Amino acid sequence: MDHSKLLVIYEKLWRATSAAGAFVVYRGVGDVAGEAGWFEPRLDDETGVPDPEVAVFRRPAPDPNSEPTFDRDGSPVSAIELETELHVLAHEAGHFHSFRTRGEAWRAYHAAAIARDQVVVAPEPAADFALRARAALSAQLTEKQKLLIVSEEQLAWDFGRELLRDAGLQDFSRYDESTRRGVHFHRYRLGLDELWPGEEL
Ligand SMILES: [Zn+2]
Repeated sequence: MDHSKLLVIYEKLWRATSAAGAFVVYRGVGDVAGEAGWFEPRLDDETGVPDPEVAVFRRPAPDPNSEPTFDRDGSPVSAIELETELHVLAHEAGHFHSFRTRGEAWRAYHAAAIARDQVVVAPEPAADFALRARAALSAQLTEKQKLLIVSEEQLAWDFGRELLRDAGLQDFSRYDESTRRGVHFHRYRLGLDELWPGEEL
């Protein structure tokens, strides 16, 4: 995609997500559970009041980290990296949209995601961690919990697609490919899909 157009869409989506009530931020961490970003509702332990955060991972994180920027350590981020980040931003903003609009259905998903994260956190030796976590998730989560997680992941991509359209994106071929891979990763992680031929994690 034309680089300058990409920048406009990226910035629009960032600002729209922010205006909808999320703290949008770069975090200087690596992929967490297959996503290069996160949505965290950050519910207060006592009051339950949310302080939602949408994060895009970039290393090193820019400073300040809560303004969209196309510069990393003095050189421009490549168009391909920006497009990848744009898809991450849209997907995580899609989770945020789901959180804001789906009420009880979102809470049911969130309970399943917490159950998943508790299984994965169980102490294990580091060797073969991903495979062992996958086996544990496959065995310990119910089919209902797995379905809730996969459905939310697909929905977050679907909502993200609408948000990108609102921000001016017209060609979705690459976004749709990111969607296919993103949903597949979560399905793999729960033991619902096998790796695709030639795919490595
Ligand atoms: Zn996701």
